Amino acid sequence: MGELSKLSIAAARDGLNKGNFSAIELTKDCLLESTKSNQLNAFCIITDELAERQATIADQNIAKKINGNLTGIPLGIKDIFCTKGVKTQAASKILTGFTPPYESTITQKLWNSGAVMIGKLNMDEFAMGSSNETSVYGSCINPWKAQNNQKNLTPGGSSGGSGAAVAANLCLAATGTDTGGSIRQPAAFTGIVGLKPTYGRCSRWGIIAFASSLDQAGPMTKTVRDSAILLGEMSGFDSKDSTSVQKEVPNFESYLDKNIKGKKIGIPREYRVDGMPEEIEALWIEGAEKLKSAGAQIVDISLPHTQYALPTYYVIAPAEASSNLARYDGVRFGERASTDNGEGIDEMYKKTRQNGFGAEVKRRIMIGTYALSAGFYDAYYIRAQKVRKLIQNDFVEVFQKGVDVILTPTTPSAAFQLKDGKKKNPLDMYLNDVFTVTANLAGLPAISVPTGKDKVGLPLGLQLIGKPWGEGDLLRIADVLEKESLFERNINKWW
Ligand code: GLN
Repeated sequence: MGELSKLSIAAARDGLNKGNFSAIELTKDCLLESTKSNQLNAFCIITDELAERQATIADQNIAKKINGNLTGIPLGIKDIFCTKGVKTQAASKILTGFTPPYESTITQKLWNSGAVMIGKLNMDEFAMGSSNETSVYGSCINPWKAQNNQKNLTPGGSSGGSGAAVAANLCLAATGTDTGGSIRQPAAFTGIVGLKPTYGRCSRWGIIAFASSLDQAGPMTKTVRDSAILLGEMSGFDSKDSTSVQKEVPNFESYLDKNIKGKKIGIPREYRVDGMPEEIEALWIEGAEKLKSAGAQIVDISLPHTQYALPTYYVIAPAEASSNLARYDGVRFGERASTDNGEGIDEMYKKTRQNGFGAEVKRRIMIGTYALSAGFYDAYYIRAQKVRKLIQNDFVEVFQKGVDVILTPTTPSAAFQLKDGKKKNPLDMYLNDVFTVTANLAGLPAISVPTGKDKVGLPLGLQLIGKPWGEGDLLRIADVLEKESLFERNINKWW
């Protein structure tokens, strides 16, 4: 057992088609691995009955030859996607007991394509965080360990459960969401591939909102090919999401196995941040060399407003979060605080929110409310939106000059220890997002590919940022980077 769960989506699709194994065998293998891997705390719920039901139907469809790309493929779903009849809490106490009566558009699409849900995945509360430590379920643990130290490491965040579950082969792939890096950073920390699509590519309907102008869902997978497959099934216009864009969904897989001769890869000099470890710098240079030897042209570029990206993000994201999270008042969703005799509704709201939200979420609500308050709105929120436009324009200019994709590191370090004293100050935690937030601010697609390891054997990732709607090209170049990197996901199983 445990062999089938190691497969990629592409390999499993093949095996299922050839009748080498059944969807129910594959699903049971993932369920067993997930249950045995409790220690990682990657799943907050395992939906075994549902999974077996879905797998049985998948086998019937395979027998009738009415199967598609995801028929019988076991997936993990981040706890931020509403799943009908399955508890959904975005890892927050305030949503205790919330069982959505509806299904998010994306998960519905996945079930329509025949996918199987193994369970809901751990994450940072309301997707706010970079280490999975703000979860009401406790932190998820990275299956990787440093060679010289047995301490538990973070899988990254906020989609930490997704990263850990895929890396540890508990499921074949997972969904994630990315507001400022939450797909790409955990993908880099766990040695898998994570893709944040162009804003508007994937419907946000039924995904618990964090910062609506930045949130996008995307695939977290073992390979670039799997990201192409899963993205294809997740994408498409949805009239229920007013920011969803009516765009044709290409066959992303058809972009793979192509050469990248003549493609222009931009290296932004502003991403060479102070104090960046040498290993990350070396990884970045090596990545550029690999693409060059595959025929791409490497060009030095400038994105001059990069230095303002983090502060801009940390005004806009909390501002939108404070507005989105106003709906959790103890009346409509989840947990309601009990009040003493005679206390009114205001008291009930206060107690519910005080008891229900964790410290990081409260911090964001406070910052956001302040930034949106009369008198400060222009100075903070409007100003941040103006800077956001400048950041976006930097990218437009670079792409107009013929650059096809931009290559950067995904994170400024490898996975760090859980409860790391150095990250006690929230600002230090926010620095994790320095390379990823720009793509969200500009609405661009970006992918993290595992390309190397640090001195102690921990995975490191490189990020490729593409043109709007340029996921095809992005995947094509990521595919070459992956093939040239020969990254090995050789985790010593300790759990
Ligand atoms: N780490 C970032 C934050 O805490 C990004 C989170 C995300 O992308 N959801 O806001």
